[in-house]
Amino acid sequence: MQMIDVPTDGAPAPRPARTGVHPPPAGWRPDSWRGLPISQQPDWADPAGLGRVLGEISQLPPLVLPGEIEDLRAELARVADGRAFFLQAGDCAERFGSCIENGVRGKLRLILQLAILLSYGSGLPVVKVGRIAGQFGKPRSSPTEIVDGVELPVYRGDIVNDTAPTRAARTPDVERLRSAYHHASATLNVLRALLQEGFADLEQVHAWNQEFVRRNPAARQHEDVAADIAWALRFMAACGAERTDRSTPQDHLYTSHEALLPGWEEALTRPDEETGAWYGTSAHMLWVGDRTRRRDGAHIEYLSGIANPIGVKIGPDVTPAELRLLCERLDPGHTPGRLVLISRLGADRVLDLLPPLVHEIRATGRPVVWACDPMHANTFRSRSGYKTRRLSDITREVAGFFAVHRAAGTFPGGIHLELSGDDVTECLGGVEEVLDVDLGHRYETACDPRLNAGQSIELAFAVARLLRR
Ligand code: PEP
Ligand code: MN
Repeated sequence: MQMIDVPTDGAPAPRPARTGVHPPPAGWRPDSWRGLPISQQPDWADPAGLGRVLGEISQLPPLVLPGEIEDLRAELARVADGRAFFLQAGDCAERFGSCIENGVRGKLRLILQLAILLSYGSGLPVVKVGRIAGQFGKPRSSPTEIVDGVELPVYRGDIVNDTAPTRAARTPDVERLRSAYHHASATLNVLRALLQEGFADLEQVHAWNQEFVRRNPAARQHEDVAADIAWALRFMAACGAERTDRSTPQDHLYTSHEALLPGWEEALTRPDEETGAWYGTSAHMLWVGDRTRRRDGAHIEYLSGIANPIGVKIGPDVTPAELRLLCERLDPGHTPGRLVLISRLGADRVLDLLPPLVHEIRATGRPVVWACDPMHANTFRSRSGYKTRRLSDITREVAGFFAVHRAAGTFPGGIHLELSGDDVTECLGGVEEVLDVDLGHRYETACDPRLNAGQSIELAFAVARLLRR
């Protein structure tokens, strides 16, 4: 037999064998959620077509690979340990129409800008996860709404129907499931290309932050922080720490979305021959929403068996005991990096509601990431009729979250934001103040109000200061 010498020069090192992977519970299958109580599902107009389209999606390549998912889990394990900080951010509802190079570029750029500020504030690397490349399904508070006197099905995200207020547009269409796959794939493709060509270069990203401070007289208060970061970058370069290899963790943006439609997730669930684990390959991280996290329900059943990092949204009505049981169900092995508990309790209530939850989980010794979503419990309808949020409430909930963890001796691991890279006018406040009368100028979200680029950067400066305290 002839042996072939494989050149090793420049070849990537083999991945180390995976250890500590979350195994599926006994009896779990990618479809074992079927038949369990389930909410927030579309009334598909073509149930036969649904099976056909999902069958076709199940034959397509995974969107992300198990190795990348495990890399994220390892990074989240470091967050749980207090050795890294976590930033999850992006649209409330991603639109197929915003899957264009500039749209993706703008969101990536903003997430990188925030990450550098959070890294400065925490003195830690930032693990970046986008609500991107698949954040297409939305839970809604009511199945229908009245538009101009006509009752229509609500918009449930681009993976289900369209926003236009007509019966045809609002009718759930199974072809959108296929379209969601292709839009997620195209978004991932451009994300990977941008990162590979050096878009995450620290100096460049910081130059954008400096431009923000220069351009806005009211943001001058942050000049000291911006100057500090510039100095730190010079210092790093002077020490020879300038990166020559662009594929450092700094350059990663992982993807995530709410796993709202288990059928779509099931079609993209793949086994890993090496470990016997199963992976949801639609995104690196999946989360369960506050409305669908019932312990005996379909969503939790599905998520309990895949090995991805799982986010759990925690609203004001979760009790400490329920949270403990939910964690037990999703992560019986206390796998580091497996669980990200995302509290969204409201600026007025976080100081009361968060401590008992933190104490309960701390007592179990499980290594979770605690993250703060300061968006979803601070939403209200303004006088002008728009659904909005105040930047001041958002900042206050994050401050409360940090205070609670400081008092408990636990690590406030990160933040979860809804934002847009554009100058939208959906949230109130900020140095370029958005007032109630301004909301109509660029209110473009298909669902919840997002921070615009300036408001997001301002929040990150504020969080950086809180972290340094
Ligand atoms: C969301 O993240 O857009 C969302 C609906 O959140 P929650 O489940 O926390 O309400
Ligand atoms: Mn939302």
